[in-house]
Formats: sequence, C-alpha cells, structure tokens
Amino acid sequence: MNRKKLIAANWKMYKTPTQAEAFVGTFLPQVYGHTRDEIVLCPPYVCIPTVAELVRDTNVGVGAQNMFWEKEGAYTGEISPAMLLAVGCSHVILGHSERRQYFGETDDMVNRRLKAALAAGLTAIVCIGEVLQEREAGITDDVLRRQCENALREISGDQVSRFTIAYEPVWAIGTGKTATPQIAADAHRVIRQQAALALGDDAAQKLRILYGGSIKPENVKALMSQEEIDGGLVGGASLDPASFAAIVKW
Ligand code: PEP
Repeated sequence: MNRKKLIAANWKMYKTPTQAEAFVGTFLPQVYGHTRDEIVLCPPYVCIPTVAELVRDTNVGVGAQNMFWEKEGAYTGEISPAMLLAVGCSHVILGHSERRQYFGETDDMVNRRLKAALAAGLTAIVCIGEVLQEREAGITDDVLRRQCENALREISGDQVSRFTIAYEPVWAIGTGKTATPQIAADAHRVIRQQAALALGDDAAQKLRILYGGSIKPENVKALMSQEEIDGGLVGGASLDPASFAAIVKW
C-alpha cells in the first residue's frame, strides 16, 4: 500500500507570531517544490493566523495542537473546530501525551475531539503511546490497543483519509531517546491490527500511522524507511527551520 507520508511539526508552547514569521521565511524556500511528503506546521494558537497567511497556496499546511469538541458556548479558554478553520487550519493534533499528562485528557475526550474534528472538516492527528512503566511491564500492546479502540469508537472506515494516528512512546518524547525503527514498526503493526477491527481491513491498510519521539535529522531516514511508518510528528527538532527542513527532506 502506497501511503503518502505526513511530516508534522509540533511547536508546543514555543514561538511568538514574530518568531513564527521568521521561521516560515527561512523554512519555505528550503522545502519549495517538495511534494513527496505532506508538510504541516502546528504552531501555538496565537501564531496560526500569521503562519496560515504566509504558507497560503504553498505545499505547507497548518494545524492546531488541540481543540474543544463543542461548536461554541461558555467554555472559557477553549477553541472550537470552526474557529480553527476560520483562521486557516487544515489539521489538528489530538490527545498528545502532554495533554493527557498535564491536563487530564482521557481516551474518551480524545474520541469526542476526533468526532468533532471530522464533522467540521479538519484532518486529525491522534496521538497514542505507552509510558515507560507500561513498556517495562510488558503491556505496551495492550495499552496501544485500548487507546486505539477508544479513540476510534463510532469512527467509520470511509473517514480514514481524514485522520492519522501518531504512535508516540511517551518515554521517547523530548528525551532524546528514540524508539528503534524496529520498536516503532512493531507498534505500528499492533495499531493497524486494532484499527482493522474498528474500520475494516481496507481502511486500516489506508490509515497513515506516524511515529513521534525525538526524531532528528540524524535518525529520520532509518525511521521513515520502514514500510510501516507513514510519517513523523516532530517536537523539539521542528523549532529550527534548517533542522525541520532536513527532516522533511529525509
Ligand atoms: C512531540 O511533541 O510530539 C514530540 C514527538 O516531541 P519530540 O520530537 O521533542 O520528542
């Protein structure tokens, strides 16, 4: 199955609009004409309008790092799917481990966000992954199956082109420890098997499964060369335009 890879930058809580503008000015010429992979920048909310304006009509898309599932209402501090679309977002990251760890995000909340994102017309990047204790206890596959099953509740196979799953082992995020290509590929196979139960075999074959966790220019090629790895979600190494361009052009 030929799945076009998606390489997404998660800037987390870094960069002001001025700094984002400087990044895009340097980054865009470096990836000009790159169509082999899909490229998406996910800046903090306040940078989205600036970045969206600068990348309009280019090969680079824009995503948010989170989103609430309600359309509007008295939800202080939250952002709706329609608001993201209105400022130029095409993508949204959901269920990142930092949201789960620091903000009480549950599998059920991730599922609600995913359904709302798809209904609104956003493409979702749904993050799942085990923590170190779970890997050491030998329950990684169970954790991935549970997270995947819950995230995909009431999602149908014909929506598969509109979301990806990012396998992000929590012990590899921001730690400099990267999963070996073999560990990542094994996890991706488990996720695809579970996705087949929710979406059907054909849709599961089409599902893009990204890897995330300390991807750098030096390790990206070994990871992206794996048949099972359909792209990457990149945190720290996406903050520098030369570094992220090198990753995109693996
Ligand atoms: C992430 O934030 O999704 C991530 C993978 O971070 P890092 O690349 O810094 O490990």
